Amino acid sequence: MARMPGAIWKPLAANWAAQPRMKAYDFFCVHTMVGTLVGTDGYFKVGNGAGYGGTESHFGVGPDGTIFQWQDTAYQADANGNGNWHVISSENADTGFPFPKWGGSDVPPLTPQQVEANAKIAAWLHKTHGIPLGIAGSSKPGARGLAVHRYGVPGYAPPGAELWSSARGKACPGDRRIAQLPAISARAKQLAGVTPTPAQEDDMPFTETQLGNITSDAIANRVIASVGGKPYHAWEAWRDAGLKGVDAAKLAAEIVAKLPASVAATSGGLTKTDVEAAVRAVFADAAT
Ligand SMILES: [Zn+2]
Repeated sequence: MARMPGAIWKPLAANWAAQPRMKAYDFFCVHTMVGTLVGTDGYFKVGNGAGYGGTESHFGVGPDGTIFQWQDTAYQADANGNGNWHVISSENADTGFPFPKWGGSDVPPLTPQQVEANAKIAAWLHKTHGIPLGIAGSSKPGARGLAVHRYGVPGYAPPGAELWSSARGKACPGDRRIAQLPAISARAKQLAGVTPTPAQEDDMPFTETQLGNITSDAIANRVIASVGGKPYHAWEAWRDAGLKGVDAAKLAAEIVAKLPASVAATSGGLTKTDVEAAVRAVFADAAT
C-alpha cells in the first residue's frame, strides 16, 4: 500500500486493490483535466466507466494545491495508455476560479500552488518508488523521470516512443504547463533534499540583481510601515525622511557597488555579513 502523506485519499470505488499492480516506476506524468478537481472526481467515479472501469489518474491537484489521491501507487491508474504499467499520473485542474476562460489547446499555466503540489508528489514518489526527479524528455524505452502526457501522444511522439494516448494531437497538458516542468523538477529536488534550498545554506547565494530587488523592497516596506501601512502616503514619508530624490533602485545600486569585489555578477556566495557591511557603508556615506 502506498499513500502520500498530505494527499486526501479518495478511492473511486471499493475495488481499487483489484486493479493491476504497477510493474515498474519510471515516470511521473503531468496532465491537465479540462475541468475542476471536484468535477473530475465525479467524472472518474460515475461519468466515465464508473470507478476504475474507465480512465483515471493516481493524483488530482486543485488550484489551491489540494491533492486528491484516487489510486494507491502500488496499483495502476489508466491515464497513460500503453504506459500505465510504469507511469504514475497527476491530473491538474484548469477550469473555474482562478483560471481565465480558455478554449482549444490554450491551457492556462499551473498556479504556483499546483507547481508546489506536483513537486511534493514528485519528491514523495522519488523517495517511495525511486522515480528520478530529472526531466525524462520522452516516453522512449529507457527514459525515466518527470514527464508530460504529450510525450506519448500520436502526432507529437517521436518514432519509438511508447504511446500514452490514442487521441492524435491531444495537447495535454498544454504548452504553458509543459514549460513549467523544469520548475517542478527544481522544486522537487529541493524537497527531496537532492539539491539544497537556500535557507539550508550558511551563505545566502544572492546575485546582484536579487540583492537590488530585495533592497528596493526593504526600503519601500520600511517607508510604508512608517505611515501605518498606507502605501499611498509613502511618498510623504519618503520626503519627510529626507530621502526625497533618492530612488530605491539607485540606492540599491549603490549598495551593490559596496559589495566585496569577489562576488560574481551572476552567481552566489554572498553572506549576511557582506550585505550588512555594504548597507552600513552606503548609509555612512549618505550621512556625511
Ligand atoms: Zn493527459
